[in-house]
Amino acid sequence: DHPVYAKIDGPIVMIGFGSIGRGTLPLIERHFEFDRNRFFFIDPSDHNKHILDKHGYELIQQHVTKENYRELLTPLLTQGGGQAFCVNLSVDTGSVDLIALCQELGALYIDTVNEPWLGFYFDKTKGPSERSNYALRNMTLDLRRRSPKGLTTAVSTCGANPGMVSFFVKQAALNVAADLNLNTPEPTSREEWANLLRQIGVKGVHIAERDTQLTKQPKPRGVFLNTWSVEGFISEGLQPAELGWGTHETWKPDTAREHDDPNAAAIYLMQPGAATQVRTWCPTPGPQYGYLVTHNESISIADYFTVHEDGKAVYRPTCHYAYHPADVAVLSWHELFGAEGEVQKTLHVLDEDELEEGVDELGVLLYGHAKGAYWFGSQLSLEEARRLAPYQSATGLQVTSAVLAGMVWALENPNEGIVETDEMDFKRCLEIQGPYLGPVKGYYTDWTPLQNRPGLFPEDLDESDPWQFRNFLVR
Ligand code: NAD
Repeated sequence: DHPVYAKIDGPIVMIGFGSIGRGTLPLIERHFEFDRNRFFFIDPSDHNKHILDKHGYELIQQHVTKENYRELLTPLLTQGGGQAFCVNLSVDTGSVDLIALCQELGALYIDTVNEPWLGFYFDKTKGPSERSNYALRNMTLDLRRRSPKGLTTAVSTCGANPGMVSFFVKQAALNVAADLNLNTPEPTSREEWANLLRQIGVKGVHIAERDTQLTKQPKPRGVFLNTWSVEGFISEGLQPAELGWGTHETWKPDTAREHDDPNAAAIYLMQPGAATQVRTWCPTPGPQYGYLVTHNESISIADYFTVHEDGKAVYRPTCHYAYHPADVAVLSWHELFGAEGEVQKTLHVLDEDELEEGVDELGVLLYGHAKGAYWFGSQLSLEEARRLAPYQSATGLQVTSAVLAGMVWALENPNEGIVETDEMDFKRCLEIQGPYLGPVKGYYTDWTPLQNRPGLFPEDLDESDPWQFRNFLVR
C-alpha cells in the first residue's frame, strides 16, 4: 500500500552502496515502477552485498574514478533505452563531472553532497578557501552557468542536510509569519522568499541537530563511530568551518577569512569545523553545544535568502550547521583531535541493529525575530525508523526519504538543469517525505545564547544584540 509516484523507464545506476544507498534501495522499490534487470549498483566494497543478494541484484565491485567514469557509466546509463537515473550516494566521486556526463546522455541525476574526486579534502597544496564547500558549490554553479537551458534535471545535494532542511526553512518561515499575523501572500519567487525572511526579522538560521541514538556497546578505543558516513563526516569535519554570513553581524573572530569574491554569501574560519563549537538549541536537550561543520546548505540558504538592492546585499541571514552528533561520534572526534589528527584505524557506520534507542532531532532554528527563536524539524526515533523502512537508523531515513523526494521531483520536472533544493517545490517534497519523518513539529523558545552569561568568568559578549555570532561562538 505504498504510493508509486513515477515510472523510471530507463536504467537506474546507484553509485555507492553504503549506509544511505542500502536505505534508499527499499524506498526506490516501493515508490517507483522500474525495470529490475536494469538496476545497477557500483561500490568498491562488498560490505552491504548481502542486501543486494537478498533483493536479487548484482554488485559491480569497482571504484568510480576520474579516469574510468565515462567508460564505466556510459554503457550502464544507456542500456536498453529510456531515460536513465543516476543516484550518486558515494564518497570520493566528482559530482560536477558526473552531472555533466548524465546531462550529455540525457539521464537524470541526484546526489546528497557536492562531492569532489578522491584526494580533494586532504590536498595540502590547496588553501582553506579552495578546500571549502563554497568552492565546491561554485564548481557546480559554474557548470550550471556554462550550460544551455533545458538540460536534464540534476538535483544537487538533496539529503537531509543539505537538502530537506531547505524545505524546512520555507515551512518554518510560513509558520512564523502566520503566528506574527503578517498576512503576506505565500512567496512565489526567490526574491519574495528572501523578503519574507527579512520582513519576519530572521537574523539567522541554525541547522540545529541533536542525535541521541545510543549504541548497545560502548565505543572501543581507536574506532570512529557515527550514524552515517564516517568518511564523509571526517572529510567535512576537517574542512574549514564555514557559515553564511548575515548582514546584521558586527563582529568576526580573528580566525575569520573572506573568499576572493566580495559578493560571496559565506565566510570561513581558519579552523576545522569539528573543532568549532557554537551554542544552539533543540527541543529535547534545550540549549546545547553543536559543531559548526561546513555544509552546502549554510551557503545556499544564506545566498537564496539574500535581498539585493542596487546590486548590494542589504539583507542576508547568517546560516550554519550546529550539530551535536551521536555521543559516540563526539567521543570519536575527541580521540581524533587528541591524537594530533591521526585518523582511527577503524571507521564504522552503525547500523540500526547496533543502536539501542534514541532520536535524530534535525531541524532549522530561525532566530532573532519578534517571537525569539523557532525550531522546526523532524524528531524521528530509531524505533519508528525501524518500523517504517528496513536497513537504516533514524538518521538514515531522514536522508533516504529526501533522496526519494528529490527523485520524484526530478521525474516530475525532468528538464530543469542543475537545481539546488532551495529552488525545488518544498511542499511536494515534504509531502513525499512526510510519512518517513516521524513527528514534524515547530517549537518556540525564549532561549538566547546569552542565557546564564556571563557565568563565573568574564566574557566577551554583545549584550545589545543576543543574536550576534559573537555570542553563539564558543571561545
Ligand atoms: P558510507 O561511507 O556508508 O558509504 C559510502 C559508500 O561509497 C561506501 O560503501 C564506499 O565503499 C563507496 N565508495 C567509496 N569510494 C567509491 C567510489 N570511488 N565509487 C563508488 N563508490 C565508492 O556513506 P553514506 O552514509 O552512505 O553516505 C553516502 C554519501 O552521502 C556521502 O557522500 C555522505 O557525505 C552523503 N550524506 C549526505 C547526507 C545529507 O543529509 N545530505 C547525509 C548522510 C550522508
